Amino acid sequence: MKGLLRIFIILYTLLSASCIQENEWQNLTILHTNDIHGSLISRPSLKRGSIAKIATYIKKIRKTKDEVLVVDSGDLHEKGSLPDGLSKGKVMSDLMKILDYDLRVLGNHDLRFGVESIVNSLNGTNTPAVISNLNWSRPEQITFYRHYIVQAGKARIGFVGIIIGPRIYTTGIETGDYNVQAEINALRAKDVDAIIALTHIGYEEDKLLREKLNNIDLIIGGHSDTTLKSVDRGRRGNEIPIVHTGSFARAIGHLDLRINIEKNKLIIDDYKLVSLIGDDVIEDPEVKEVISGAYKKYAPFGLDPIRSFEKNIRKRSRKSLQLATEAMAYATKSDAALFWKNPIRTDLKKGEISPEDIFIFAPIIRTGCGGQGQSHVYTIHMSGDKLSKLKKVFDMNMELYANMPSKIEKTRQYKVAVIKAMLDKQLSIFKNIDQLPDMATAHMNHNLQDTNKELHEILIAFLRKGD
Ligand SMILES: [Zn+2]
Repeated sequence: MKGLLRIFIILYTLLSASCIQENEWQNLTILHTNDIHGSLISRPSLKRGSIAKIATYIKKIRKTKDEVLVVDSGDLHEKGSLPDGLSKGKVMSDLMKILDYDLRVLGNHDLRFGVESIVNSLNGTNTPAVISNLNWSRPEQITFYRHYIVQAGKARIGFVGIIIGPRIYTTGIETGDYNVQAEINALRAKDVDAIIALTHIGYEEDKLLREKLNNIDLIIGGHSDTTLKSVDRGRRGNEIPIVHTGSFARAIGHLDLRINIEKNKLIIDDYKLVSLIGDDVIEDPEVKEVISGAYKKYAPFGLDPIRSFEKNIRKRSRKSLQLATEAMAYATKSDAALFWKNPIRTDLKKGEISPEDIFIFAPIIRTGCGGQGQSHVYTIHMSGDKLSKLKKVFDMNMELYANMPSKIEKTRQYKVAVIKAMLDKQLSIFKNIDQLPDMATAHMNHNLQDTNKELHEILIAFLRKGD
């Protein structure tokens, strides 16, 4: 009898303990994306997914799970499609509304389309932005949060957001250092059950961050295009977990969590990096419809073939640099063209090529907020003497490429096509080339002509011509 009673007591204690435990825990699923970069349509040859596939996965999980949070770690825009670029981000901002993300942090590329575009994307949206280190001192009003609390069932989850810095985007828009501990402390004081950082600073910086911050449970990162197939818990195996999904909608991250609301503890039960490259996840038909409307409105001929290639042109290969500089020289009627490998971002695959293929091969990459990209094309004039010195510098640097006449006469004047990044002189690679004038000097000496064209526009016209 005594034995039976003992078993009964043990069973009762176990049962009631599990009841209490049940009450203490809140289950939660977090879906996360980063660096989508305007990916509107799937591109299997470049192993890229699309926002329409992301939509399908989000819808599916929202239907099957009780508590789901969908978050983005920045760089929704630029590089990936013509309609996103030509609408100054409006297309992707509208899609984020349709997908109904719960929270986002901005990335550097989300601050590039100009002030009006940032105002539009932050105001009149259903997705709040958490950015702990954005310094906004412009007259335009925008809404963002230094820290943000989301109620998920019984759990209160605090978020901080960090964008890469310190950087100056334009007057009145700066990002500061990552001193976010104060925001974390403020969240703890508001009695949250867990704290998550949405970051857009890159994987290596995330690893440094987890050393620096106290009282934080999870880092959901972006910016470095890093694909982490599983949760990174550091060398010791018990450090603050970090997750990243790569870029261009290649995957969506799926975290199944438990949060203990008594002990403020976050446990990751399962993590999946769900591939969006194959046919496992199809494109959501409604979102696809919106996207085809965006092409009609902003880039009606964006996907029509303009040329067919028999072979692949590899990213940053000699062939790709030759193509870019030939187009630059042709369009500007210049004697020479100078180029840098960095603006070439993808292969041009064999077969039919559309304007959008050219755009993602040489996308607009802006360095400030609004305005021209780093491969906006200008022309300058210089003596043969200077030009032959430049040729030596360019031939010796693997990052640079010069398309020049075979014979250079020292006393003749030459017209030379260059890209904006060379005249900006912000990058050390160009800062040290004395023969290249800076933008202000070239302008002052009436030695600067703006083609008013980005490289991809020049390339599209050049390839359309059939040369
Ligand atoms: Zn970025």
